[in-house]
Amino acid sequence: MSKQEMLQKYAELALKRGVNLQENQMLVVNAPVESANFARLVAKRAYEIGAKTVHINWTDDTLDRLWYENAAQDVLENVPEWRVKMFDHFAQEGAALLSIRSTNPDLLKGIDSDRISASNKAAGEAMKNFRKYTMNDKITWSIVAVPNEEWAKKVFPDKGEEAVEKLWDQIFKITRVDQDDPIAAWNEHNATLAKARNVLNDRKFKKLIYKAPGTDLEIELPEGHIWKGGSSLSEQGTEFNANMPTEEVFTLPDKYGVNGKVSSTKPLSYGGNLINNFSLTFKDGEVVDYTAEEGIETLKSLLNMDEGARRLGEIAIVPHESPISQSGLIFFNTLYDENASCHLALGKAYPSSIKGGANMDDDALDQNGVNNSITHVDFMMGSGELDIDGVLEDGTTEAIFRNGNWAIDVN
Ligand code: ZN
Ligand code: ZN
Repeated sequence: MSKQEMLQKYAELALKRGVNLQENQMLVVNAPVESANFARLVAKRAYEIGAKTVHINWTDDTLDRLWYENAAQDVLENVPEWRVKMFDHFAQEGAALLSIRSTNPDLLKGIDSDRISASNKAAGEAMKNFRKYTMNDKITWSIVAVPNEEWAKKVFPDKGEEAVEKLWDQIFKITRVDQDDPIAAWNEHNATLAKARNVLNDRKFKKLIYKAPGTDLEIELPEGHIWKGGSSLSEQGTEFNANMPTEEVFTLPDKYGVNGKVSSTKPLSYGGNLINNFSLTFKDGEVVDYTAEEGIETLKSLLNMDEGARRLGEIAIVPHESPISQSGLIFFNTLYDENASCHLALGKAYPSSIKGGANMDDDALDQNGVNNSITHVDFMMGSGELDIDGVLEDGTTEAIFRNGNWAIDVN
């Protein structure tokens, strides 16, 4: 099969199984200019499916870096109102939102971390309303990745000019685009993840205990927490996959019930910089101490985004034998690395991860232990040495994970 045909299959998958675009619906695509060929294939296929209109927001890493280097501080700290209104308008229109990610993990290396965090903070604040549409599944949305040269060379440092094609091969394989019928393969995969989440939902664990080298962490789960994984249902009842790939089942922690220490197991690409070999120490849900061998300033600015950035909003379980993990690669890209590893997220929790959460106001969410923040950043802490125990309602303990893989029957 030619490369162009593979890209068409990928576009089809993103539209039909990712955002699940409906006839007469608007499609909004966030697309880096490096992904122009793919974005145009997406637009063409979307019109064939019956899209009302396709709006593409082009982004450009090179221009972004120039902006960070040159814009005045007050420009960095303000998101223009038209931009906020534009996204709110798309949401009100009931548009499907497809984000194509193609990030250079070192894009903002050397830029003052205060400038980056000022801009991230402003964007987080400005997009508060729009984020409710995605994080409460009020619209269908999906994230897929497309290689670029800098990213590919980071993953395959000794492959030279072949790096981009190597990365495409991995993406096609991991997203099942290389299979005869990728959509059928995804339906099967969603069913497998649904089984795992159902087993965990039946248990109603009160607490999870994580143990691994550098990690000794207790996480309380709020009453009514819901394990999710695989496809989601939008408010209108449309089934969609928010991340491609996805290998996780996840829920939320009690924002006040996290104690102990956790160590990262993969580098975290955040805000155009890498944070590597870091640890966080929690007391009553809050980060009270942290270390990092690389990127400590970036970690510090992340934790200082707001009060909620120092608390957890997601706990996700991914077996060490997951296909992405078995590739043995470090992707320096959270969409890929988080699906190769158990992870936690600092910042906002998905309100739909607790019973009735999508309709709770901020106070009710807080009382139920649901974290709120202008940020949500996954970081990887799973490995082949991770054990997880679950404490049941009657106080007994059950092994969930041993040596990085399921110890309970999730089939
Ligand atoms: Zn996750
Ligand atoms: Zn997450």
